[in-house]
Order: sequence, then C-alpha cells, then structure tokens
Amino acid sequence: MEDEKKRIVVVTGGSKGIGRCIELRFARPDTKIIFNHYDPDDEAANETIKLVEKEGGTAVGYKVNVASPSEVSDFFKKIMDEEGRIDVLVNNAGITMDAILVRMTEAAWDRVIDINLKGAFLCTQAAAKVMMKQRSGCIINIASVVGAMGNAGQANYVASKAGLIGLTKTAAKELASRGVRVNAIAPGFIDTEMTAKLSEKVKEAMVAQIPFKKMGQPEDVAGAAAFLASEDASYITGQVIHVNGGMYM
Ligand code: NAP
Repeated sequence: MEDEKKRIVVVTGGSKGIGRCIELRFARPDTKIIFNHYDPDDEAANETIKLVEKEGGTAVGYKVNVASPSEVSDFFKKIMDEEGRIDVLVNNAGITMDAILVRMTEAAWDRVIDINLKGAFLCTQAAAKVMMKQRSGCIINIASVVGAMGNAGQANYVASKAGLIGLTKTAAKELASRGVRVNAIAPGFIDTEMTAKLSEKVKEAMVAQIPFKKMGQPEDVAGAAAFLASEDASYITGQVIHVNGGMYM
C-alpha cells in the first residue's frame, strides 16, 4: 500500500512500555506509526520498530525532547513534509521524579511538569493545527489514576497528570466543532520500566489497594487507546477512561 494512503499515528515516548504497546496494537499494513523518545541510545527504539514490522506495520522513531518547543516543532514539520496528515496523536511521554513535598526540588518540579504537561501541550498544539484543517483527528492523552486521586510523594507528577486532564477537556471543547476528538486514559499501576524501579515493599502496598490484586499490563492501556481511536468512539470526547483494576472508582 502507498505510504500516502496510510493512517498516520504519532506516539510520544514510544520506544518502550505503554507507548510501545500502543504502537503494537495500532500496527497494521494500512498504518504508519511515527514515534519519539528521549534517550540517545536507539536500542529500545530499534527493537520497537522491529516488533511493529513483525505485526505487519511500519514505524519510524526520532529522538525528540517533547519539552523542547523547537524540537517538537521540527518533529511535526518533518511529519507534515513527509506524510501530509496526522490521524491520531497519543501524548504518552512521561517521567517521574518522586519526593515528598517538603523535600521536592524546584528542578524536579520543573522537569516533570515540562515533560509530562508542557510536552503534551506543545504536541497537542502542533497536531491540532493539522487536524483542524483536516476536519478530523483523534488525540489521546495518557494521564494517570493519581491525577484524579492524588498520591503522597508525587506532587509534581500528580499535578502534571491533573493538568493533562484539564488540557484534555479544554482541547475537546475547542476542537469538537472541527471534528477532532480529545480524550484521556488514566492508567492505574502498570507493569513497565517506570514501576519496575519501585521497591518490592512499595509495589506490594500498591497492589494491596487494587481490587483485582494485580498490576495492569501495558496491553490493558493499549486496548483502551485502540477503542478511543476507533469509529466505535466517534461520539466520545473530553472523557477520562480509567484503566486501573478498580483501584479508584
Ligand atoms: P516508560 O516505560 O518509562 O516509558 C516512557 C517513555 O517516555 C519512553 O519511551 C521514554 O523515552 C519517553 N520519554 C521520557 N522523557 C521524554 C522526553 N523528554 N521526550 C520524549 N520522550 C520521552 O514509562 P511507561 O510506564 O510506559 O509510561 C508511559 C506513560 O504512561 C507516561 O506518561 C506515564 O506517566 C503514564 N503512566 C504510567 C503508569 C505505570 O504504572 N507505568 C501509570 C499511569 C500512567 P526514553 O526511554 O528514550 O527516555
């Protein structure tokens, strides 16, 4: 199939974890996936491309810091020069830098807000301009359960995810008349590198709060993303889908 006929799916932070899994869920011959990542080591990104190709899809990955306005602008310019359209944007890039409030440094606050929230704003703004002209498109923001319920030790991360939910609802209201839908997914406690770095004690305490008594898998989040990007969700906008095993209701 010719590239120009393909559905263009852009995923930020797509080299591993939930982002990679969403890409694998979208991977099919009529879809081209364009993702970015931050680490200059391309090993995870190259592995992701191979996995997408194994599923019959196409993927390209670029090193882009979503917190950098110039890098984001160049990334979207490249996409438009090469593809001419964007059908789906998944704002997935995110980091944690945990500390209790009284010990949190300004640098840790700024870095998490810059990547998790400003990064999503910059990418949403760039994609929205394209999607408004197309009069179609779907934006999915990967928030977090803690953005709704709060979490001790994560003031910066929780603020970024609560902000992302507010951004989702506002963008949904502004873009609806142009046929663009904007929704969020709020994952609970998902088994990825981000949670692998937590101690066994912390993990056990988290799992104890989950009615299903187990962590979620990236596939659980990818399924919700596939639904939100599908025609089945064509009347859904401005919503937050919680994927958390009942951890927060
Ligand atoms: P992960 O395995 O650590 O993956 C994070 C991804 O974001 C990587 O591809 C990473 O690329 C990329 N990234 C980090 N900083 C970036 C930047 N400045 N610019 C571009 N890309 C950047 O994390 P994950 O668990 O899959 O999390 C994915 C999303 O889900 C995040 O937004 C996270 O907050 C959210 N979430 C996760 C959980 C969970 O339990 N895991 C729960 C709720 C929400 P590099 O490796 O190249 O830096």
